[in-house]
Amino acid sequence: MPAALTPDAVLAALKVVQDPDLHRDIVSLGFIRNLTIRDGEVRFDINLTTPACPVKERMKSEAETAVRKLAGVKAVHINLTAEVKAHAGLDTTALASVKNLVAIGSGKGGVGKSTVSANIAVALAREGARVGLLDADIYGPSIPTILGVLDIAQPTGPRMKPAERHGVRFMSMGFMAPGDQPLIWRGPMAHKALQQCLFGVEWGILDYLLIDLPPGTGDVHLTLAQSVPLTGAAIVSTPQDLGLMISKKTLRMFETTKVPILGIVENMSTYLCPHCGKEDDLFGHGTVRKEAVTLGIPFLGEIPLDAAIRKASDEGVPVVADAPDSPSAKAFLEAARALAARVSVKNFDAAQGSSERTRLSRVLSASGARLSLAWADGHESHLPGAYLRRNCPCAECVSENTGKRMLDPKSVADTVTVRKSAPVGQYALSFEFSDGHATGIYTFDALRALCPCGECQR
Ligand code: ADP
Repeated sequence: MPAALTPDAVLAALKVVQDPDLHRDIVSLGFIRNLTIRDGEVRFDINLTTPACPVKERMKSEAETAVRKLAGVKAVHINLTAEVKAHAGLDTTALASVKNLVAIGSGKGGVGKSTVSANIAVALAREGARVGLLDADIYGPSIPTILGVLDIAQPTGPRMKPAERHGVRFMSMGFMAPGDQPLIWRGPMAHKALQQCLFGVEWGILDYLLIDLPPGTGDVHLTLAQSVPLTGAAIVSTPQDLGLMISKKTLRMFETTKVPILGIVENMSTYLCPHCGKEDDLFGHGTVRKEAVTLGIPFLGEIPLDAAIRKASDEGVPVVADAPDSPSAKAFLEAARALAARVSVKNFDAAQGSSERTRLSRVLSASGARLSLAWADGHESHLPGAYLRRNCPCAECVSENTGKRMLDPKSVADTVTVRKSAPVGQYALSFEFSDGHATGIYTFDALRALCPCGECQR
């Protein structure tokens, strides 16, 4: 006789479905809600950590397949819901209803940081998230133009109301400046205006408040990092090395202020010809992705250089809202989903006490052809010695100024092996290779990012 169709049987079947970002099955993660079974019809919600989950359709279809296999199932009805978790440290009373603050930075101006911020914000809102966008880019405030909000009503009560466009609540530090004279911001003024924008605005309940920072590093970054616990920061870079080199300084600034890096977006990637729709790698598309791997930070996606993006922005409607089916809008949507997924991972990791994914449990073997590592999340990485050597992050192999890999991978023989490894603090390993090289310090984050298996490189 086949087993009875019970809630326990359904939950047991659903355990095969994994959240690929959190590396756990959706039952243990507590995603299954409101499970009912009536006359062979199984209904339940999958309650995700973000409505912008990049793999929601895949998880839904895997769940349906798993439940359909059970005897007695006539139909499966799955409802996708989402509940964005709040960043654990964020309880500054005035911002208590904002679950995640995410800074968006870049090394220099003109790389499209504001364009990317605005489009990601609108994409997240279109996915069903509650989103705010704070334009803190006092040196080049382009978001008011991109969203078509050039001014804001003066407050009638103690707090200002944000504008609302394309489902996004929006405020600009520029609106704090009196009159229409161009303003030279001095440190204390920027500090005060940022505080006003964070704590003096009725943001309401938000899943994500994105903060478009000025390019480079400076007062606004420091004030922000010191005033509120950020879930993390994303960096926008163009494929040219120069942009990336400067972005690295921004990365370091976030690291020193203990702001986690959520990932990096390559903007103005391939050129999308408006006439024939063909792509062209004008600036060497793909360099940011490679650098992300070297730096051990997540790559969030690439946005084409597309005249339609600029045109839509100039007209006050971001391309994500103006032409949602266009390739550029889809690229922004993917980046928005990847960013939302990283926020979920950070919050999940924080709830676990530390990141299990990048916490090394054991070095299984560190001599011979492969380095084998066991991670706290149960995953094992097997890294060939030559591959590890070719990805050495030391200053001899990677230019500190340009971030460019100087080591020619072909100069490393396939036969190179790891001679020995040594721990570096609580966060990294160093290796001595059979070719004598021994100067690289490989952080756990970087080693996990280098894991060559299909699952990690997906
Ligand atoms: P930043 O905030 O980094 O200073 P902006 O977002 O203001 O840069 O963008 C600078 C200019 O580049 C704007 O005119 C914008 O419309 C344009 N732009 C940004 N990203 C793209 C893109 N992917 N394709 C085409 N134009 C872009």
